Amino acid sequence: MLFDPRPKERIGDMFDRRREFKAILSGMEDYPITLIIGIRRVGKSSLLKATLNEYEGIGLYLDARRLYATGSGSISSSVMVDELQRIILGNGRFGFLRGISVERISLGGIQLRPRGMTFIDVLEFLNGLGEKTGKRVVLAFDEAQYLRFYGSKGGKDLLAAIAYAYDSLPNLAFVFTGSEVGLLHDFLGITEYSSPLYGRVYEEVEVKPFSRELSEAFLRRGFEEVGLDVPGGEIRKAVDELDGIPGWLVEFGFNYWKKGNFEEALQSTIAKARAMIREELRELERRSPRYSLILRALAMGLSSWSMIRDYLEAKGGPITNARLSQLLKSLEKMGWIKKENGAYEIIDPVVERVLRE
Ligand code: ADP
Ligand code: MG
Repeated sequence: MLFDPRPKERIGDMFDRRREFKAILSGMEDYPITLIIGIRRVGKSSLLKATLNEYEGIGLYLDARRLYATGSGSISSSVMVDELQRIILGNGRFGFLRGISVERISLGGIQLRPRGMTFIDVLEFLNGLGEKTGKRVVLAFDEAQYLRFYGSKGGKDLLAAIAYAYDSLPNLAFVFTGSEVGLLHDFLGITEYSSPLYGRVYEEVEVKPFSRELSEAFLRRGFEEVGLDVPGGEIRKAVDELDGIPGWLVEFGFNYWKKGNFEEALQSTIAKARAMIREELRELERRSPRYSLILRALAMGLSSWSMIRDYLEAKGGPITNARLSQLLKSLEKMGWIKKENGAYEIIDPVVERVLRE
């Protein structure tokens, strides 16, 4: 069902996205590294899970945000290794390792053992598994910019292990998704001379919000599925408010289905959005309180450099141009704002609306 609010896990449950699906699939098959980028709630996790489900090789899904939360703010190698072992052994019961007693098999000279494995050991184990089964093994990290909290060197150890796999473990491939696109690029550092992954070849798939036409078609199809006859005017109005971000469209469709009228559905959608966005803003404020001040300025229509600076100075005291420029750049990298014709704007109109309140 299109209006099911959880991330989709089957491409058949998703609206459109065939092009992205094919591109990710061929990335998994042909490239050592694939990036899936796009703003929050655009459908990256859904696409990743759906593609892993169709993938002919062996796919392992890891949520880097969850790893980060488990380690309460940092990801140790033992958290990473435990999670990988859990997935490998868990899959043994149901999926790709069925019939193989993993504890006993030794692959690529490496045996999966309960204690003392390093991340590289696990990678070598998986590479051996790929060799033995004749299948490629894909390690997919959702919201991979959080991997910068791996270890004590900004994730460099993890990147070095991935670079090693890239060069020496031919049966392994990696997929990274990121809502904070600039942070993900910075972290991987493929164009950065000092990064372990410098110069490596990769495939990048951008997931964009739906166009107006597709957004309306999405809602029509969803309402059809649940047997609701919703007037075209209301569908257009919903897209005016929510734009083409599938996460909000699903929320709205689901609420309309439950409440039965436009106004209430929109109100509940905004209420839900408010709660989610507040949580994200809190996280942002921990990085710098000025981020949310800047977003508030933009939400009020203060879009030029000098207007933003005046607002910030009125609220929080003097700020240098260099610092403001750094903050704006970071907000761009985190996928909150974009700059067009010299003016800054918030990308997601629902975020803007919540901030204006
Ligand atoms: P992201 O990982 O980019 O934040 P998700 O994959 O979690 O986005 O998607 C957000 C919400 O939107 C989920 O409820 C998901 O079910 C829904 N969704 C995203 N893309 C689609 C699509 N193409 N068809 C149907 N629902 C979708
Ligand atoms: Mg996601």
